[in-house]
Amino acid sequence: MTILRAAIFHTPRNPFREAKALAAHPDGALALDGGRVAACGEYAEVRAAFPDAEVRDLRGGYILPGFVDTHIHFPQVRIIGGLGYTLLDWLEQLTLPEEARLADTAYASAVASEFVSSLAAHGTTTALVFGSHFAPATAALFEAAEKRGLRVFSGLVLSDRSVRAELRQQPEAAYRGCVSLMDRFRRYVVTPRFALSASEAMLEICGALLREHPGLRFTTHINENRQEVEEVARLFPWSRDYLNVYERFGLIGRNSVLAHNIHGNDDELRRLAAAGVSIAHCPTSNAALGSGIFPLARHLRAGARFALGTDVGGGTGFGMMKEALQAYLIQRVAAEPEILTPAQMLYLATRAGAEALGVEGETGDFAAGKCADLVYLRPPEGSVLKGVLRHAGDQSPERTVGALFTLADAACIEEVQMSGRAVFQSREAIN
Ligand SMILES: [Zn+2]
Repeated sequence: MTILRAAIFHTPRNPFREAKALAAHPDGALALDGGRVAACGEYAEVRAAFPDAEVRDLRGGYILPGFVDTHIHFPQVRIIGGLGYTLLDWLEQLTLPEEARLADTAYASAVASEFVSSLAAHGTTTALVFGSHFAPATAALFEAAEKRGLRVFSGLVLSDRSVRAELRQQPEAAYRGCVSLMDRFRRYVVTPRFALSASEAMLEICGALLREHPGLRFTTHINENRQEVEEVARLFPWSRDYLNVYERFGLIGRNSVLAHNIHGNDDELRRLAAAGVSIAHCPTSNAALGSGIFPLARHLRAGARFALGTDVGGGTGFGMMKEALQAYLIQRVAAEPEILTPAQMLYLATRAGAEALGVEGETGDFAAGKCADLVYLRPPEGSVLKGVLRHAGDQSPERTVGALFTLADAACIEEVQMSGRAVFQSREAIN
């Protein structure tokens, strides 16, 4: 039994539904036993409950739950920062040529190793990851994540049209590829790239996999870019909107996570909410690719679930705190503005993602019994953040969390634990 003593923040309740959903312990304690949370609360109380526990004094720093990234592409780690494109020309000119390089399994293994190291270094302990178009490369990702000890959900990316020839698979071969990866790795996710690159035969294969394996997860993209939406309408003339394409093949339900949904209509939002689908909102990517502004207020009104994704490499990096800040900034100037609170930003980066992936019983906050997945932030001496937090003193916990989300970056992350085991320590090189 170990007690970590530091300021601790988490959101065991949904701050979009409840006021005071932020659980804050300025002199807090997290008691860990066998990789799980035994208790989280005020230091004095937790210490009294576990008088024999060893105490690690981490005061001067801040403990948050490990972040949950609900949309990120492993083959795109080396093309982050390709600015000046919109979705379809970015895919064609920059992204898909890089994804084609993962046909070389040695190259793919090196990328996978960089990728999981970067997740850990940024405090992300759970992620829903777009794999590669190549099965050996996707296997390399699963292996790297397992070795690192991260909770990675992923799958072979499926396409049989609209992308360069070397990235296409025949639907039957895709089916066999998925089944053989599913046999080898847990947390498999059926992952067609998007409706634009999947024929009806390919989407039928996806539906068959979901029918044959109850509980299997599904992910893809939806309503990201206007040109994409128009093209999908042309390719599937029978569909009433983009979502209807996925509905037709039985791909939509509580285990589905769809990235973006910037241009969804009200009826799509209503159906997404009714089906319990989660949207992965990726604000830096949406801005970087000029895709549009996520209609967050409409999602809230419709009761549609959403969490955050970095969408590397369309997004600007692995930082989930940066992503939450970008969501805050963009929503301030949205056509229908929303003011996200620090508690909502923390929730979106942690517990909302766990709910999207159906692992809220395991991670996302510090309720007793959950895995000890955590980020320990300690602002460097002399940093602006350090000065702001010192000045904030004992002001409201919201103010502290707001300052952390505005100013903390990977340089502030000193340690990351997954089930109580360190998966990152700052003295280790990021890569
Ligand atoms: Zn994406």
